[in-house]
Amino acid sequence: MTVRVMKFGGTSVGDPDNVARVLTVVRRRADPPPVLVFSAMGSTTDVLLEAAVLASAGRLRSARKTLASLRATHRRIIAALLAGDEGRSARGDCAAIFDELDAMAAGMAALRDLSPAVRDRFLGCGERLSTAILVRVLRRAGVPAHWVDARDVVVTDGNHGDAMPLMGPTRRRCRKILGPILEQGLVPVTQGFIGRSLEGVPTTLGRGGSDYTASLVGASLEAGEIEIWTDVDGIMTADPSVVAGARSIAALSFDEAAELAFFGARVLHPRTLAPAVEHGIPVRVLNTARPGGEGTVILGNASPGPSPVKSIAYKEGMTVVDLVSARMFRAHRFLGKVFEVMERHEVAPDLVATSEVSVAMALSPCTSLGALVKDLSALGRVEVRRDQAVVAVVGERLKEEPGIVGRIFDSLTDVRVAMVSQGGSKVALSFAVAEADIERVVRRLHRRFFEGDEAAPSMVAAAGCAHG
Ligand code: ADP
Ligand code: ASP
Ligand code: MG
Repeated sequence: MTVRVMKFGGTSVGDPDNVARVLTVVRRRADPPPVLVFSAMGSTTDVLLEAAVLASAGRLRSARKTLASLRATHRRIIAALLAGDEGRSARGDCAAIFDELDAMAAGMAALRDLSPAVRDRFLGCGERLSTAILVRVLRRAGVPAHWVDARDVVVTDGNHGDAMPLMGPTRRRCRKILGPILEQGLVPVTQGFIGRSLEGVPTTLGRGGSDYTASLVGASLEAGEIEIWTDVDGIMTADPSVVAGARSIAALSFDEAAELAFFGARVLHPRTLAPAVEHGIPVRVLNTARPGGEGTVILGNASPGPSPVKSIAYKEGMTVVDLVSARMFRAHRFLGKVFEVMERHEVAPDLVATSEVSVAMALSPCTSLGALVKDLSALGRVEVRRDQAVVAVVGERLKEEPGIVGRIFDSLTDVRVAMVSQGGSKVALSFAVAEADIERVVRRLHRRFFEGDEAAPSMVAAAGCAHG
């Protein structure tokens, strides 16, 4: 039996109207039974984080107020969706989780502590709340839903806040726990984002990690398709919240989608694609509000599409570190030393550009930047540029398109580019600019490749429609 894994994000379950749309989608695809993965409702995780920060700063009263308002929101959602015994039991389960949160907040306030393990336990409550409600809403709508604790299924290392799944045990648990539920014709309902370490301590897969849960479960069960249901029409030519003319892309290759996710396209958690790639499972990104749409399918090899550029992503909060060697190392010695220092500090640069005696690296936020810079200074002159953003122009056809580099940068002649890199796969050309310039850079590139002279005629004609 081929299984379908369907993951619904925060907005898709953030209010009663959206939950009604989820029900429509699930009912249409209930045979054979899918595995359902849910995020926390709306902005619950952000609110929990706010409460955790307040509590650990000793501001218990404000933390309690924040939690009380979240409790009220959940009660309102239950009241709108459930009645009678189901309403009562959902209220009971949620009340128990909120009591747990209140107790944790008191402990955090007393100890002035927000350790990563406590933070994970605290933030993970959002998904437990949403699934406690949704499993009952599904049952009431006639879907034979069966609640599963994701912490029993997703086994991770102990790296709290950004835990890595352990694929062997996760696969075994998925098969052992989810397999029999599916065989009975029931629909497993579980939480995204959370797992448990081998030592039995709750962990999280990093913000936005529910997508990753869906692909871990999908890979473990060798699913036929992994569906990511969200609030936009699939993966688009740029972030639609920045570029009004962004439109959806019919198909992307795994490599293209992985580059976009890595370089900040929030629509997919950066690690989502790896488990799917390994098993060749297509991932489809769909809009809960338009369930009839095709969305975007991500496959081993997708058709190239009409433009050499498929999409433009960006990532803010970056730091560019330039290092120019003061000594006469031979090039391989120099780079070797640089990477030794990086490894010692456990920092992996997002972009690297090198010449014989200099190297530029774009780094995501990291706590050890000061110490890293100090150690790099022993190798040469270091310059640190903060508040940078990395832009990635992505498309399989970039590697064979003549003059593409010139065409990208000609539209940016008045922008200061801090570094440029085209990785080995040549699926993305990435560069760093000042964060303050990011929106105009992305909009200008989008205009050039998707809205103006460079755009394939079909793209200009189809502005606003779904196509590839
Ligand atoms: P969910 O709660 O469903 O996981 P997210 O907020 O994590 O949703 O991701 C969806 C959002 O990702 C969209 O609303 C959109 O603003 C943003 N986004 C960024 N880049 C892209 C892109 N290239 N295509 C589609 N959406 C994008
Ligand atoms: N609820 C979690 C977050 O907000 C996980 C997710 O939504 O994917 O980060
Ligand atoms: Mg998300």
